[in-house]
Amino acid sequence: MKNLCRLSLLEAINLVKKGQATPEDFWQSCWQSQQKKDGKIHAFLTLNEKGEKDLARKSLGQEPLAGMPFAVKDNFSTRGLQTTAGSRILANYVPPYTATVIRRLQKAGGIIFGKTNCDAFAFGASGENSGFGPTRNPHDLARVPGGSSSGSAAAVASHQVIFALGSDTGGSIRQPAAFCGVVGLKPTYGRCSRWGLIAMGSSFDAPGPITKTVADAALVLSLMAGKDRHDATSSGKMVANYREGLAKGVKNLKIGLVREFFRPELQGEIGNAVQRAARQLEQAGANLVEISLPHLDEALAVYYVLVPAEISSNMARYDGVRFGYQSKHGKTALAASAYSRGEVFELEVKRRILMGSYILSAGYFDAYYLQASRVRTLIINEFRRLFGKVDLILGPTTPTTAFKLGEKTADPVAMYLSDIFTVPANVAGLPAISLPFGKDKNNLPIGIQLIGNYFQEETMLQAAYLLEKANGN
Ligand code: GLN
Repeated sequence: MKNLCRLSLLEAINLVKKGQATPEDFWQSCWQSQQKKDGKIHAFLTLNEKGEKDLARKSLGQEPLAGMPFAVKDNFSTRGLQTTAGSRILANYVPPYTATVIRRLQKAGGIIFGKTNCDAFAFGASGENSGFGPTRNPHDLARVPGGSSSGSAAAVASHQVIFALGSDTGGSIRQPAAFCGVVGLKPTYGRCSRWGLIAMGSSFDAPGPITKTVADAALVLSLMAGKDRHDATSSGKMVANYREGLAKGVKNLKIGLVREFFRPELQGEIGNAVQRAARQLEQAGANLVEISLPHLDEALAVYYVLVPAEISSNMARYDGVRFGYQSKHGKTALAASAYSRGEVFELEVKRRILMGSYILSAGYFDAYYLQASRVRTLIINEFRRLFGKVDLILGPTTPTTAFKLGEKTADPVAMYLSDIFTVPANVAGLPAISLPFGKDKNNLPIGIQLIGNYFQEETMLQAAYLLEKANGN
């Protein structure tokens, strides 16, 4: 059967369960697609050559994921399989263990197809900060796929795999999903274990699925989520069967439209897409409520203070001794470590470490870190108040559709601004999903975003499912 790789996860599983295709057929189809397309796109850093062996598992076809190949962003540790986090400092690193969320998907019958390119240590919004060269957007090779889960989104959009995993600290699942025209879900902080995910901002990081459909995201999330004894911040709350509730509709749900989202920088076509989605939800029985998030701008500022602070501390472990690249220079331990870091860390990695160290340094800590932490609490309280009034918040995922390669590399602040609509959910730890909703005049995908209340992924998925159907996807 041709083009199996183009199927959604649920379609693929059904076909295997009905005996009309085998997991091997899907593996082959994805492999051929990868070989054909990835020379131009560069979504993958490493392919799991040993994956085919796992296909021999007898019961595979009957397991929840039925042997489907999935791609993993290269900042998730995978035992025996090179894991670089997109940085040259880890170019030869092979982890001795596998991240919990991946082990869960493997246990459910998923097979790792390969590791995907990303901005080094997930610092970025375009994929261009990867130490191994950029990934390109499958819809237009001159444009970025978004970041930092650039390879995962591009691999799903170009049908090189059936689904993928990404990580989202400030938008890195949702923004590339929007740019590539696929679905990206960032769960509530703590809903999915971070164990084995290479840390960026530990109080922000969230692993989540990138898929072709909303129902696929619901399935993958229900298999990844749940308490993990290796991650003290993972939640023990019961994991819902997210797929069951999908078709419940949106009758009587209150959907908030944030006034501050409709700002001059927002590309007109994206604003229109959000309005169109709002009307469709209203027609399906939801009530629209205009709300205000006065601290939207501060959310971005808070993010770019607290996250670099957490980054600078998390990056301290790359000292050229315990992991990764070791320089030949430097006579003392400190000098040797400085050379190792200085020689290979990518520019954006250095920038974030410098910013973070400055923010945390004596004399500045109170003015920056403490102050930003206070504003974070304000924003959390603002969201809590809003979720007293509404069930979901609807808005754009990004201010623009995919931009050109090189367009923002010289101006980090312009790059940071592309996160303005995604970071609030991370600052507050809320769940959010981006789904494709039409195209702009250049035929580039537009993404819209739904933000849910804590642990209300189910409601969020319900509304996303309805919009996906209404939009004829
Ligand atoms: N673009 C954001 C940043 O550069 C988000 C990154 C992420 O979510 N990993 O920090």
